[in-house]
Amino acid sequence: MIIIDGSEGEGGGQVLRYACALSLLTGQPFTIQNIRGGREKPGLMRQHVTAIEAACVIGGAECSGLAVGSNSISFRPGRVTPGDYHFAVGTAGSTGLVLQTVLVPLMTADAPSRLVIEGGTHAMAAPPFEFLERTLLPVINRMGPTVSARLVRHGFFPRGGGRIEIDIAPAPLRRIECVDRGRAVSVQATAIVAGIPFDIAERELKSAQKILSGWPAEAFVTRQLPADQGPGNALLLEACFDNVTELVSGFGKLGVPAERLAATAARRMAGYLASDAFAGPYLQDQLLLPMAIARGGRFTTVKLSEHSNTAAALIERFTGSRFHISAGDNGNLVELIV
Ligand code: AMP
Repeated sequence: MIIIDGSEGEGGGQVLRYACALSLLTGQPFTIQNIRGGREKPGLMRQHVTAIEAACVIGGAECSGLAVGSNSISFRPGRVTPGDYHFAVGTAGSTGLVLQTVLVPLMTADAPSRLVIEGGTHAMAAPPFEFLERTLLPVINRMGPTVSARLVRHGFFPRGGGRIEIDIAPAPLRRIECVDRGRAVSVQATAIVAGIPFDIAERELKSAQKILSGWPAEAFVTRQLPADQGPGNALLLEACFDNVTELVSGFGKLGVPAERLAATAARRMAGYLASDAFAGPYLQDQLLLPMAIARGGRFTTVKLSEHSNTAAALIERFTGSRFHISAGDNGNLVELIV
């Protein structure tokens, strides 16, 4: 039984989700204490309960202590069974993070799966749908499986109500090199509004344009969704290269001026563009688990995040495999040593 202190390292929900995935993939049970001990409101939130329930359903697992507010669970994995599954978070909790829990076990299973996940699709501190679709899944697909995603309905904080659908055709994972991002192909900035004043989108684009001044005017577009999908606002900045797409996001929040949100996102994109790295600050931790199961791989990335350090330590505990990180002139090279 692996014992995890959930307050160590990044101390958030990711430890929990990756522990469930690693447990299903390696057959080792675990207990986690001090769940989300590094967060302002520790313990399980609704979205974490849904993610763990999803792991139990697809993996025939048993879990004790599973309830909103719980600080400790014990998880005993069973057999991963591919199939058609429907998971609903019930809040604006992230659909993408439920997917993060079950994706690798299902994409290495022995038959296809189809998932419908309901909840938030564009909310803070989680991958927005477009990040999954354009940044993460294309890299995953180069490793062997074919995973496709559709956004059926947007779900913003606090209302939720979004829906994504995922088709997974599994395959054994092969190690890949993600060192060179290739030539720049295209850029786009999209400001999405739903049920809030349209000028918020225009102000965001103007502010982003000041920082991303080399981007052509036609790359800046607004998108107004039906009001019943809101209230909500997201700014998505996308840079496509031959081998990877980086997608930086910002989400509207009461009290945060549109200009400030957009300037923060644009500065992050400018930082990525100025580096030579393949993976941005969020793709890096999300690549570690599939690379560990592929038993090898390399990627270059911007400054290493605490999420990545925490995930790497957890992966080592479950698999014995170590990531070696070397700092280069233009970022870091992360390599898996098996
Ligand atoms: P946690 O904070 O522990 O719940 O983990 C959050 C997860 O969401 C990590 O895997 C992050 O890489 C990912 N994440 C957070 N914000 C973003 C974002 N804006 N774009 C893509 N992924 C994100």
